[in-house]
Amino acid sequence: MNEEIRSITTDNVHSDRRFGVEHGGIHKPIHTSVQYGFDRVEDLIGVFQGTVKGGFNYARQGTPTTAALESKITQMEQGRGTVCFASGMAALSAVFLTLLRAGDHLVSSRFVFGNTNSLFGTLSDLGIAVSKVDTCSVAAVEAALQPNTRMVFVETIANPRTQVPDLDGIGALCRERGLLFVVDNTITSPALFRPRSVGAGLVVNSLSKTIAGHGAALGGAVTDTGEFDWTTFPNIFPNYRSADPAQWGLMQIRKKGLRDMGAALSSEQAHQISVGSETLALRVKQASATALSMARFLESHPAVAAVYYPMLESHPQFEIAKRHFSAGSWLLSFELKDPTAMIATINRLTIPIKATGLGDTRSLVIPVAPTIYWEAGAQVRAEMGIADGLIRVSVGLEDEHDLIADFEHALAAAG
Ligand SMILES: *Cc1c(COP(=O)(O)O)cnc(C)c1O
Repeated sequence: MNEEIRSITTDNVHSDRRFGVEHGGIHKPIHTSVQYGFDRVEDLIGVFQGTVKGGFNYARQGTPTTAALESKITQMEQGRGTVCFASGMAALSAVFLTLLRAGDHLVSSRFVFGNTNSLFGTLSDLGIAVSKVDTCSVAAVEAALQPNTRMVFVETIANPRTQVPDLDGIGALCRERGLLFVVDNTITSPALFRPRSVGAGLVVNSLSKTIAGHGAALGGAVTDTGEFDWTTFPNIFPNYRSADPAQWGLMQIRKKGLRDMGAALSSEQAHQISVGSETLALRVKQASATALSMARFLESHPAVAAVYYPMLESHPQFEIAKRHFSAGSWLLSFELKDPTAMIATINRLTIPIKATGLGDTRSLVIPVAPTIYWEAGAQVRAEMGIADGLIRVSVGLEDEHDLIADFEHALAAAG
């Protein structure tokens, strides 16, 4: 691998060629084979035993096309290796279910993606205790640690209320205590932030969102940054304590999480995500600039009670966000002074699509409490700071002036 650090886009658009693509094609081909055959049975044995590097045997454990995408994600995160999955949730499930065992304890941010929160319910039923704390304060994380704590989990910018954890503080605490720090980088993406810079050992990205960018493929990824010493982790199975401890974590995640649980990314989807990822840095830069202008516009609007966007000076974690993220991303949310005007206001918008989802090229808008946080219930919503009138916007690539004019028109009747 080329160790030289270039920009994400420079590396990404030339990444496939490093694999010696057939016929001079400039994309890695879509390899549809489920089985991979060999002239010599010794090579088949070698792939099974891991002594033949980069070999394939069965598509549930990876294909040349998913491997090319894994290499791109590794490069973007400046990590050591990546395993891709059929969705972001499959990636998260693999991390929690293969690395934690009954009797273990996980400290998580209270402000996490709704389905991740639901997954924590499953973990609890399996005997893995989860403490949900306000990770904007490292003291809250420290106070929650127990002798059986194995992992600390945060999202970079929480969806939908945009809380930002004390990334430095938690990273330092985890290093000091020898704990695995896992960061869900979906909302920022490696174009805005690399969790490795704060000592995260594993990074999870939903590829369905901004990395693909087109809303036409589902995928997820787990990247090992090389920051965590796996020899100190008690839950690695004896089989995976192979020669190089640097590989232990991802080996277990690939074998147990991908091969055994089976949520494999298909080559077709990997190709779609790979092509989308080429424009990641450009899209995130533009959407972030538009989102900041929109946040400023909304903050100054008389019908709006509150705006949540990390790059607003009024945001409680503005300093942390500014220090770590090169821009604020495409996620913002806001509340109207009159919550009863929420539905009518959203219906008056003509550009954003009324839909769930994040990080698309098209703007998306959704009332949070009656949809994505409905199942969570009123108590969880209150803990996460989700008011009944909260509106979430995923800012797309439409022209900034068109979007602001659309919101101005929609809000005119709400004041
Ligand atoms: C969407 C999302 C996920 C789940 O990803 P899918 O690809 O939809 O399964 C996980 N974490 C965050 C922060 C997300 O926004």
